[in-house]
Amino acid sequence: MDRYDLVVIGSGPGGYVAAIKAAKLGRKTAIIESGEIGGTCLNRGCIPTKTLMHSSHLYSDAKNFEEAGIHFVGISFDMEQLQSRKEEVVQKIRQGITSLLESNGVVIYQGIATILNNNFVKIKNGTVLENKNPDKDADKQLCQADFMNEDTSRSDLQLEAGKILIATGSKPAIPKLEGTELPNVITSDELLNKKTLYKKLLIIGGGVIGIEFASIYSDFGCEVEIIEAMDRIVPNMDKEISQSISMSLKKKGVIIHTKARVTQISKGENQELICEYEEKEAMKITSAEGILLSVGRKANTEGLLAPEVQIEMEGANIKVNTDFETSVPGIYAIGDVIRGKQLAHAASAQGISAVERMYGMEPSVNLSTIPSCIYTSPEVAVVGMSEEEALAQGYCVKTGKYPMLGNSKTVLSMGERGFIKVICDSTSEKILGAQLLCDRATDLIGEFTSAIVNGLTIHEMTSVIRPHPTYGEAITEAVEDVEGMAIHLMPRKR
Ligand code: NAD
Repeated sequence: MDRYDLVVIGSGPGGYVAAIKAAKLGRKTAIIESGEIGGTCLNRGCIPTKTLMHSSHLYSDAKNFEEAGIHFVGISFDMEQLQSRKEEVVQKIRQGITSLLESNGVVIYQGIATILNNNFVKIKNGTVLENKNPDKDADKQLCQADFMNEDTSRSDLQLEAGKILIATGSKPAIPKLEGTELPNVITSDELLNKKTLYKKLLIIGGGVIGIEFASIYSDFGCEVEIIEAMDRIVPNMDKEISQSISMSLKKKGVIIHTKARVTQISKGENQELICEYEEKEAMKITSAEGILLSVGRKANTEGLLAPEVQIEMEGANIKVNTDFETSVPGIYAIGDVIRGKQLAHAASAQGISAVERMYGMEPSVNLSTIPSCIYTSPEVAVVGMSEEEALAQGYCVKTGKYPMLGNSKTVLSMGERGFIKVICDSTSEKILGAQLLCDRATDLIGEFTSAIVNGLTIHEMTSVIRPHPTYGEAITEAVEDVEGMAIHLMPRKR
């Protein structure tokens, strides 16, 4: 039996980053993956979604090329080609992660892991995954099929582990509704791989996943309707942000129902899907070719623990302490499987911290400030506290806001309306939070994250020269606006 200092279960951005960190610290490390290397983020989440979005944005932008002085004769898209490109991107990154694990000496096992106790892990139908293409040639891509087809006589393996890290992630939650089992009632996992587009897509759940697919589908000219249970889409974001996203989507023709609950899905006479829902106390009906269920994600814990391993849970999630250790000493958990933000970058940061804590080191990553992004057009990014949250926490708050229509880069690149809003503590003048709705918001948010983590003040933020013309200049303007010093190109309402 092989013995490791650390056995990591799950190779998503939480697990693989943690495994590499442990290996770099000189620990003999193994990682076990039942599916494909890279987890949800790479195979069924961020990367494939944003790859498709990149194409859908280009296609949508092309409609404005005339305005930029570029003339096209006809424009179309090929969904099969789009899917092939998406697969290429995913495989290239998967090869990169596999090579990275191997070059750091992490042993990769393929199979389904079950924790037998705090020192032993069983791998059902386990095998050591050997990279057939160690020459790192990106064209010779490693795919799971290489390993799955290799050995048909696999047996169960057992590993001895000094410590165990659970990083098994999450899967789409299926609402308790009649009709969810019907064909074409699907989750993001299946929608991402569809080789053709539905003429009309009905989305149940207007959270981040629902909104990103609404954006892709509407950019490609399909009909989209969203049914959201709360009083606004993306309800966990600031009201102004959700109103702005709602306006952009409506401009693209998306129909949005809020305070609406689906009661039943059924099949119509012409094979269309019929959705009955209750909106503002009235029963209504709509139909679509496909229905996306995007009502949240649930932790992957099925079959993970042998019956004798009793780990304390928080609802459906594994409970951990501030060191990411579960109620069973020596077993740790990170990422979507624990309670908190279900974000790839949060899982990676937790993975690094968990490894540092298990080997007695001080955490090197500040986990208190995690940015959240939505890759719509324009993009959305938020970090730290909103104005309401800061007030509720007893801060005396000052805010600054800059409308992007006053930003030269936005004007020259035919950007949409948007803003950068910054929230500060009026006593210490430190930055508490920021909300961005603009092109490249998901990149710009890094500057505010760094400002909050490092306790920067308004003055320290404005004392920096930002290049011209860039979207980043709007950061200076938004922070200067806190003191009423911003130079706005356009007249605006306060
Ligand atoms: P979510 O929790 O963000 O949104 C689900 C939405 O569905 C909520 O607005 C909720 O009110 C609504 N809802 C729930 N039940 C409903 C019902 N029966 N009828 C109508 N509406 C209903 O979940 P998600 O969008 O599925 O995303 C899952 C997780 O993945 C989130 O934590 C999200 O942050 C993460 N994610 C992040 C990104 C990103 O960072 N860009 C992208 C995709 C997913």
